[in-house]
Amino acid sequence: MKKKIFLAVACLGTFWVQSQVVVKCATDEMFLESVKQFPAIQLEEQRANEIASKAPIQNKKATIRYIPVVFHIIHKFGLENISQTQLNDAIRVLNEDFRKLVGTNGGSSTDPLTADFEIEFRLAQLNPNGLPTNGVNRIYSLNADNARDAQKSLSYWDARKYFNVWVVNTINNTGGTPGSIVLGYAQFPFQINSQTSTDGVMMRADQMGVIENVDVSQLGRTLTHEAGHWVGLYHPFQGGCVGGTSSNCLSQGDQVCDTPPVSTATTGCPTSRNSCTNDVPNLPDLVKNYMDYADGNCMNMFTKGQKTRADAILPNFRSNIYSTTNLTAAGINADGTYRPLPSSNVKAPYYFGFNQASLAGTGWNLENYMCPGDSGWQINNTVGLVSSGSMAALNIKTWRTNVRNAFSSPNLDITNLAAPTLSFYAAYARRSSVSGDRLRVFISNNFGRTEILARTILSAEMSSGANSLDPFTPASNEWKKYTIDLSPYKNFNNLRVRFELQSLRGNNIYIDDFRIDEPTSLGEQLKREMQFQLFPNPSKGLSTISFSNEQNQSIAIDLIDLQGKKILNIVNRLVEVGNHDIELDVNNLQSGIYLVQVKTEKGMFIHKMWVE
Ligand SMILES: [Zn+2]
Repeated sequence: MKKKIFLAVACLGTFWVQSQVVVKCATDEMFLESVKQFPAIQLEEQRANEIASKAPIQNKKATIRYIPVVFHIIHKFGLENISQTQLNDAIRVLNEDFRKLVGTNGGSSTDPLTADFEIEFRLAQLNPNGLPTNGVNRIYSLNADNARDAQKSLSYWDARKYFNVWVVNTINNTGGTPGSIVLGYAQFPFQINSQTSTDGVMMRADQMGVIENVDVSQLGRTLTHEAGHWVGLYHPFQGGCVGGTSSNCLSQGDQVCDTPPVSTATTGCPTSRNSCTNDVPNLPDLVKNYMDYADGNCMNMFTKGQKTRADAILPNFRSNIYSTTNLTAAGINADGTYRPLPSSNVKAPYYFGFNQASLAGTGWNLENYMCPGDSGWQINNTVGLVSSGSMAALNIKTWRTNVRNAFSSPNLDITNLAAPTLSFYAAYARRSSVSGDRLRVFISNNFGRTEILARTILSAEMSSGANSLDPFTPASNEWKKYTIDLSPYKNFNNLRVRFELQSLRGNNIYIDDFRIDEPTSLGEQLKREMQFQLFPNPSKGLSTISFSNEQNQSIAIDLIDLQGKKILNIVNRLVEVGNHDIELDVNNLQSGIYLVQVKTEKGMFIHKMWVE
């Protein structure tokens, strides 16, 4: 079988076509190896098959089983470090296929044998330590190529609680067809007791979903196929032309009765193929079955018999993973929705100056996605706005199109700001007017699982230094300030900000002085000029208001509640020049937040007061 695999799209800007034998799945050869190493698996397999063979076909709608998923991206900061958007797309295809969703490929089959598997996959929201996650672990390793089970130990969550999917650049094909490309492989449910720490699915990054860095010939269905193994299904060509009669279909071949036997794996989309003629009745092959090897746009069904088999095996080998208790631990409700999580303990106002030697322990993360030789975003300890530290992408080395590098902030609780505003400084130069770099700022309130595009800055606007073919290092006056109003998101209690640079023949870029606070208004300025203070705050009874008055003027100071109702008039008179201390008795007030409103002839401001 020859297939075109599209690789390295973003690095070269054009398709690099490679013609190699594609072996869709290495599950069978990996299973043979496993049985050699752990003979007990054979008994477990027999036990599973026996249970499945006794299960009656059920059409009844059962409860949907939701399965928490974790993706482990083993990457070298290369194209295999696929985006969250692409991972979300992979989950979309998986759920459409498993749920036979109307209006999708998965729901397109009119074959009466087609089954809704009543299984859905959800990215985990809590990790094994109970901490928030977007369900994705990104592990930098030089072993992202030629991966096998050994790479799984780089990142693994308890397989009894999470469906582990490892995403790598390429998969080792030892034992397979020489020179072939393996797209994925899985472990069966009956291997879990012997091989717990490798349980799950290994996938090539270019088979995930149908967008960005993908080989479109499979349309994301390799993951559907591998997840099919993971719930207990064999290939329909298991054993060749056997198990084709009503008396042996449950004990031979794929041990499913409504999938006719297939002699060898199907390629392309030969809809009238009939590779075995000894089945009774003699039916054509079910080439549209996800568990065969047809092209992605050909496959669109699991059968009712396959669902019956999985339904019988899962409660005996994987029941914990979709239990309500386990879903709760993964941050998912029994109905598949996400549970609200507590606010981040990192509170706004928040400032970060990138003056550390590394990002370790800061809560900031690199999500570079680049080509060999690129530097991506890194802490730069020589260039900075005020002190010598910034986040920099030495982008001039990236004279390739569409390289996408990103970094993200810790999760921040911004709910105590009335007018939350994100501001940062950037310094950037173009090579020439054709430089098409762009910086995009995304925000998320669910740990990056989904994002909102808050701002796009194109190269012309971003340019703060003169066009140059030499590497750009900004002078102190070559920084631009950007502000983004976060008021629409002021209820975000786990705000994450992600900066993504899409490179297109530009020069270096630096980001510094990241702040989430409230804008300095005229009122704030006035407050500073008056050296206004209120202490203690929070107050238990008596507090002092202290300020400096630079001219004789009328001043009114009122205490108001959060509804704007005046509670107490503190001052309302002509106040002479000089320093003043005024006692404020709040003994009679209920505990809570109040506002001290100060009006002078120059303007007004408000100061928050807590009464305990
Ligand atoms: Zn397979």
